[in-house]
Amino acid sequence: MTPLAGWGGYPRVSCDEVAPGAEEATHAAFAPGGTIARGLGRSYGDAALNAGRRVVTLTGLNTYRSFDEQTGVLDCGAGVSLEAIIRDYGPRGWFPMITPGTKFVTVGGCIANDVHGKAHHAQGTFEKSVDSFRILLADGTIVDASRHQNAELFAGCFGGMGLLGVILSARIRLRRIGTTWFRQRAFVARDLDELLALMAQADAEYPYSVASINPFDTGARLGRGVLTVGDHATADELPAGRPPLKISAPSALTVPFTLPGFLFNPVTARVLHALIFQVLARGAPYAHYEKFFYPLDAIGHWNRGMGPRGFTQYQFVIPFERGSENLRKILEVIAASGLLPSLNVLKRMGGPGIGPLSFPFEGYTLAIDFPIRDGTRALLQRLDQIVLDAGGRIYLGKDAFLDAKTFAAMYPRLDEFRAIKARVDPAGVFTSDLSRRLGIGG
Ligand SMILES: Cc1cc2nc3c(=O)[nH]c(=O)nc-3n(C[C@H](O)[C@H](O)[C@H](O)COP(=O)(O)OP(=O)(O)OC[C@H]3O[C@@H](n4cnc5c(N)ncnc54)[C@H](O)[C@@H]3O)c2cc1C
Repeated sequence: MTPLAGWGGYPRVSCDEVAPGAEEATHAAFAPGGTIARGLGRSYGDAALNAGRRVVTLTGLNTYRSFDEQTGVLDCGAGVSLEAIIRDYGPRGWFPMITPGTKFVTVGGCIANDVHGKAHHAQGTFEKSVDSFRILLADGTIVDASRHQNAELFAGCFGGMGLLGVILSARIRLRRIGTTWFRQRAFVARDLDELLALMAQADAEYPYSVASINPFDTGARLGRGVLTVGDHATADELPAGRPPLKISAPSALTVPFTLPGFLFNPVTARVLHALIFQVLARGAPYAHYEKFFYPLDAIGHWNRGMGPRGFTQYQFVIPFERGSENLRKILEVIAASGLLPSLNVLKRMGGPGIGPLSFPFEGYTLAIDFPIRDGTRALLQRLDQIVLDAGGRIYLGKDAFLDAKTFAAMYPRLDEFRAIKARVDPAGVFTSDLSRRLGIGG
């Protein structure tokens, strides 16, 4: 048994982890008690955990099967990471179509969480870049799934949390790029209403937009934040001396071991926010993709900085209707909690994905980190109720605390997902700590 955790380091459980190569993956996927697939373990909570049971880590499925230079269609193993795709195809003028805030994620993980990025309002979720995939089902067969073949299974896997089968490979479309640089602008907002107004305006003008607030602000300054917007830079506009298709070397900085919990305290948390505010507000006119998409990847194992008890990222989406009022309520509860909110991202989301359990819908999404402390569960339960009352839902890719009843109330297409699951995996071969906690089935 191997101790395993998600990116948040909470919960940490012993699992029967195997990491097969492509040849053995189909056998390794099956074990008494059930299995869950795992990619690079960047989900924050228990999505890729299976206490006392099999976890099949698929980073060994890391080969490219074919690439069409005309269309940008890449056929690759499900364990290929976005980092590898950028490194290998970036210099040739291609980039992942949709990317989350870290490049250390696998194609299989991006499908299972139907991940979204800074341009969700304009580009949708990862599903938009997937033409088809090959999936190992509970009965041991391998089938192709696309919008035209096994279409229900195809849709179900986006946000399906690995519970319908093991994705072995996928055909994804890459984006043609002229440069690996972004033109960007930053706007400072004095309060929440100003920030939300700026965000609405930005979404009409820019594909990429994301805000960050200082969660310690209260009263008239509540929701004070910085909005960063941007678009791909063309080769002609780049300032001299910047290689248009520059790819970064691996980061040399890393947090070598888990730091003591006391280092993250009310003083350091406030200093961190003041620094983030300054850095964001002073954003340079052109940013390399590393800074634009992946600022956190600059420090390896940064999650160790949050202390031995780990941390959680709370991410919800709530409708635009009464959105400002509900966000205010949530931010007030967070500020009064004393529970050291840290990194956060506020964004407007576009329409829903095709998966019954895909997270996004039109509205405001806030993702915010909290170190695990004695009061964390109670705070998140309180926030869950506000989110539910607002007609919102929690992102399972980040979650470790939601209960089954609240989850069912937040995901109205849950029965649709359960019906697909009952058809392709009636015995619940694919199961995880998350699926059992939330009573999803399996
Ligand atoms: C710094 C940081 C920033 C992030 N930013 C964003 C963001 O902006 N937007 C966003 O949407 N998410 C974001 N995330 C979350 C991350 O993108 C997702 O959790 C992603 O799914 C992780 O991919 P992974 O390969 O690490 O998968 P894992 O975390 O290992 O697994 C995630 C899920 O995928 C399933 N899975 C993995 N491989 C397969 C497979 N081959 N077949 C079937 N199921 C599989 C697992 O069972 C599990 O349910 C962020 C995470 C971090 C750490």
